[in-house]
Amino acid sequence: MVRGMGQAGTQPRSPRKRPRRCVGCGREDAKANLLRIVRSPDGTVQISVSGKAPGRGAYVCADLACVQLAKKKNALSRALKHPVEKDVYERLEALCRDDAGP
Ligand SMILES: [Zn+2]
Repeated sequence: MVRGMGQAGTQPRSPRKRPRRCVGCGREDAKANLLRIVRSPDGTVQISVSGKAPGRGAYVCADLACVQLAKKKNALSRALKHPVEKDVYERLEALCRDDAGP
């Protein structure tokens, strides 16, 4: 007996799509193009490469200009409501350079 070939008509939960917004330029982008920075519950700020780290997250484009803009505006500190070390920005910049391709 086959009943209802997987017709998901109404879903009990409506998954709300939360756009990822870059803290540098303010553009929304697909998660794949953004770097995620996470403030973990114990107060450390780290770059989440896997995107799975727990905690409050902020996003910035994998773009050197955006990281530098975010640094200038101190945007990550504001987004995470926690002071972000220069070190974190430097690592983000390094990631962007890595990513930049050829
Ligand atoms: Zn950006």
